[in-house]
Amino acid sequence: MPSNKDWNYHPDLPLEDPSLFARPKDVGYIAGWLRRNWLTLSERVLILIMSIGVFYTVYPSLERVSNPGISWAFEVLAINYALVFTITGGLHWYFYMRRGQGLTLKFDKRDHSRNNRNFLFADQVKDNMFWTLASGVPQLTVYQCGIMWLMAHGYAPVITFNTHPIWFVLWIMLLPVWSAFHFYWVHRLLHVPFFYTRFHALHHRNINIGPWSGFSMHPVEHVLYLSTLLIHTVVASHPVHLIFHAIYQGPGAAMTHTGYEDLLIKDKRSLALGTFYHTLHHRYFECNYGNQEMPWDRWFGTFHDGTEEGTLTTRARKKKMYS
Ligand SMILES: [Zn+2]
Ligand SMILES: [Zn+2]
Repeated sequence: MPSNKDWNYHPDLPLEDPSLFARPKDVGYIAGWLRRNWLTLSERVLILIMSIGVFYTVYPSLERVSNPGISWAFEVLAINYALVFTITGGLHWYFYMRRGQGLTLKFDKRDHSRNNRNFLFADQVKDNMFWTLASGVPQLTVYQCGIMWLMAHGYAPVITFNTHPIWFVLWIMLLPVWSAFHFYWVHRLLHVPFFYTRFHALHHRNINIGPWSGFSMHPVEHVLYLSTLLIHTVVASHPVHLIFHAIYQGPGAAMTHTGYEDLLIKDKRSLALGTFYHTLHHRYFECNYGNQEMPWDRWFGTFHDGTEEGTLTTRARKKKMYS
């Protein structure tokens, strides 16, 4: 098995393709994919439970949104801040303050950067919190409230579980696939040197990532990254779909940037978190623009499989792009 000494931990290399596109005709494989993503306590299932939970307890109804007044929008903002502090703050507290898992399954040996002038306040965590809280959460809220307003006023198509049960379920399962597709193309655009230096370099200050890095972006990148939500203006959705999508993009980004592969409970891998795939993107930049859900990196030759050879190819690509 090839191994890479740069890492504290890495999965078996070369990385495998766990996407639906790997073996699209293999029914057993598809069943395994469904079970891994939707029938175990996965990131997606947790976000779905949270979405249904907030919708039925604290979320403003479309009926209220259709009435005059905007107090409901401030409630959405407060809910988003609460979710970010709970999910992102909770993961940071557990992994980096309480050191709940030590170095077990942590990709990078190092801790977060301090006294580093590349970061705002010379501190990686404070820098990441600033961009998440000052730009990310407000922009997420503006997108969400805009779409809710369109839904409430009949400008965006709305369904309920009772009228369209099959589409309701299917659309929830398709949302992460849509999000991955959208992310790949926005992300490739952001890696064009002109846009990279101006906007995306901010997210890439984080070579060694942590939960607060996930949603830490330049405001222009937030506009592009969150435009995935606009799909709800054309594809029939329920507010739960919108909330699921919003949590997945915002606080959910913390889960994929924890710096750890899995959360262990009693030494058992209980929740899949960060992927080595995106960790490689943060270390080597010009590779793995998408995520494991989509085959684009493999198809367009930008896939880094974690081996030394992958690193050499990526370095050559970067040199060519900036020459
Ligand atoms: Zn990038
Ligand atoms: Zn990232």
